[in-house]
Amino acid sequence: MLEAGIIRGEGKGKVVIRVRSAQPYTAEITSEQLRVLAEVARKYGSRVVHTTPRQAIEIPDVEEDLVEEAIGELEKAGFKVGASGKLTRHVFACSRWCLYNSTPVAEMVEKINQKYGDVEMPAKLTISFSGCDFSCARSRTSDIGVIAKTRIKVEPDKCIKCGLCVNDPLGCQVDALTVSKEKPVEWNSDKCVGCGFCSNICPVGSITAQEKGFDIYIGGGGGMFPREAKLLKEFVSEESVLKEVDRIVEKYRALAKPGERLFSVVERVGIEEFD
Ligand code: SF4
Ligand code: SF4
Ligand code: SF4
Repeated sequence: MLEAGIIRGEGKGKVVIRVRSAQPYTAEITSEQLRVLAEVARKYGSRVVHTTPRQAIEIPDVEEDLVEEAIGELEKAGFKVGASGKLTRHVFACSRWCLYNSTPVAEMVEKINQKYGDVEMPAKLTISFSGCDFSCARSRTSDIGVIAKTRIKVEPDKCIKCGLCVNDPLGCQVDALTVSKEKPVEWNSDKCVGCGFCSNICPVGSITAQEKGFDIYIGGGGGMFPREAKLLKEFVSEESVLKEVDRIVEKYRALAKPGERLFSVVERVGIEEFD
């Protein structure tokens, strides 16, 4: 029987090794680690690697007899073999350097990976953190999805009518702001999704971030029958997010039947059970 992270490959006696970086335990891979990946793919595989949708790295076409040797080299470079079967998939964050980012999430994700990285669950479990509503980490189609939010304050009397918050590609994406040569900024709070882009870009502090928080979604999934996650908690503080993720994971472990995904548990018992 193949171990976690060692997947049957194409051809007799060939396997795919699936790894992710455990040092750092984020979606980031250092240039030194990239060199090791390249060398292992050259020495043991067929000179290619592949990134899975959840940011694990696969090295295909490795002879089964040489797997232990290849893994030894990968582990020395800070990689961890896993991310398959019933193990948690790579908990991932969107990039730290994205200019839309008003709340970096990589550090929180590293902490969650330290705790849940490759831990066995009732079934595959996906956790994703996104720095804004674009949800590049697919927080709304993960078992547990977190999206950073910003509550803004708008002070039209400070506005110099530069138009950046409306017209710049890094400005408001949902027409929640209007500004003209004659009139300073106006904010439609009903349209606002709390992304915080405008507070990042306003050069004079007419729009500022007042408070940061995180919306937590559960029960999303991809695959053959995609499901959109449901909103469980709104605007949870940074201090409470990790505790909330812990609580949801423990609840899932307690309620799930063997092999049951979180979305199926939510559909069976209702989202209220996770509140
Ligand atoms: S979710 Fe937002 S902050 Fe994160 S990478 Fe996408 S656009 Fe940037
Ligand atoms: S915080 Fe609201 S007003 Fe500001 S850019 Fe985002 S959606 Fe627009
Ligand atoms: S970016 Fe600031 S100063 Fe410029 S139009 Fe918007 S609110 Fe006014």
